[in-house]
Amino acid sequence: MALRFFNTYSRELEEFEPRDPAARPILIYTCGPTVYSRAHIGNFRAYVFEDLLQRHLELRGYNVHRVMNITDVDDKTIRGAREAKVPLAKFTEQFKQAFFEDAETLRIKRADEFPAATDQRYIDRMIEMIGALIAPGLAYQAEDKSVYFRINKFPDYGKLAHFDLTQLQSTGRVKHDEYDKEHIGDFALWKAWDEEDGDVKWDSPWGPGRPGWHIECSAMATALLGDQIDIHCGGVDNIFPHHEAEIAQSEGVTGKKFVRYWLHCAHLLVNGQKMAKSLGNFYTVPDVIAKGYTGRELRYALLRVHYRVPLNFTWEGMNEARESLGRIDEWLARLREIAQEENVQRSTPNAQRPIEGSDFENALDDDLNISAALGFLFERINETNRAMDENKLDATTAAAWMNWWERINHVLRVEPDEPGVRVLVAQTGELKLTGTLVAEKIPAEVARLAKERAQARLAKDFRKSDELRNKLNALGWEVRDTKDGQTLTRRAGG
Ligand SMILES: [Zn+2]
Repeated sequence: MALRFFNTYSRELEEFEPRDPAARPILIYTCGPTVYSRAHIGNFRAYVFEDLLQRHLELRGYNVHRVMNITDVDDKTIRGAREAKVPLAKFTEQFKQAFFEDAETLRIKRADEFPAATDQRYIDRMIEMIGALIAPGLAYQAEDKSVYFRINKFPDYGKLAHFDLTQLQSTGRVKHDEYDKEHIGDFALWKAWDEEDGDVKWDSPWGPGRPGWHIECSAMATALLGDQIDIHCGGVDNIFPHHEAEIAQSEGVTGKKFVRYWLHCAHLLVNGQKMAKSLGNFYTVPDVIAKGYTGRELRYALLRVHYRVPLNFTWEGMNEARESLGRIDEWLARLREIAQEENVQRSTPNAQRPIEGSDFENALDDDLNISAALGFLFERINETNRAMDENKLDATTAAAWMNWWERINHVLRVEPDEPGVRVLVAQTGELKLTGTLVAEKIPAEVARLAKERAQARLAKDFRKSDELRNKLNALGWEVRDTKDGQTLTRRAGG
């Protein structure tokens, strides 16, 4: 299947055709964090989706160049710095660092560039663009000295959001800060300095002030990627007015189509509700880690639902993510053991070889259908586990499956940081060292429970056996029953 994406602009699934097939790399712009507080897991859902997009494009042979901006000046950052009584740059720096830490925890590939809005290079570009919009009448300076975009002069305004301009007509009295605008929908390109801004100001032909949020992205995107880019991403809440404004500004200046494909990630809910500090359901990445989960577990939990479907975050969902990764870890540990064996006779060697061009990759071609892709992955895991149970998978085939996994893992990035430790507990309760096992890594408590479980199974006390399995799971060990006894695989960290 050809690669296709759902384009917010057309509201249709479209086959992916880069600007110019010969032009490499693929240019992607992603709206980054506004660094006024630590980003929450809903923000990171969008960044994980963008990571999946980039990695899948790379798997399909595209070279990707991605820019993610840092919004380090806007109303919220200025207010935060004022309340904390520190300079703006000092205030935002801590949240920039926190963002990079959290992105690393979630194994998100770094963008090629992280431009910051306060960089003088981009401030100059913003001023240049605003001047270019004023010249043909697409923007005007109002009595309050701020400069606004004149949306009535840009006929395509509203096309991305599929928004009717007449809905923006004011009814009754307009708000104070909109007093000087010609149209209620006109948005600020340059905000004239006022007392609340303190020392946050830059000189411009329209007097001292600061840029509006929307022009920041237009300026950084066009400065670093040129007039036309392939893919622009963000969360659905960025569609209007932010991305609508980016189109108006960029196309107003260049006269060229700014973005070929607009991809937007749906919201994250917590227990079915919008995340809010007041509801006590507001989580950052460190909040989730503090509950005992790992970065890769959270990555998987954020990744496993299709990006256009709202994701309901729950602790049960985190446990499911942990279980799924435990299955992958155990499967990998088994494959690794067999791949390392030499001269072991199998009943039917070479069963279950992996197939090139897997269903997993084809599913991702279809607008990043991750749920289908993961469904295929676990089908393959079940099949190969069965073949291993029946002693039908030889070393060469196991190695081929591990290579097959490498491609999938390039996209998922959920492999364990260290190989899972495995131990075989014979039916008599005797512990046997297998494969990558390091004897001293088996805690005494785990050994005791495993032996007790072996005895319970010999006595056919399956209720007790299940209870003991749950206890072992809780201690971080996956349990599998085989004809030789039970194998335990320690869940990997990371
Ligand atoms: Zn943006």
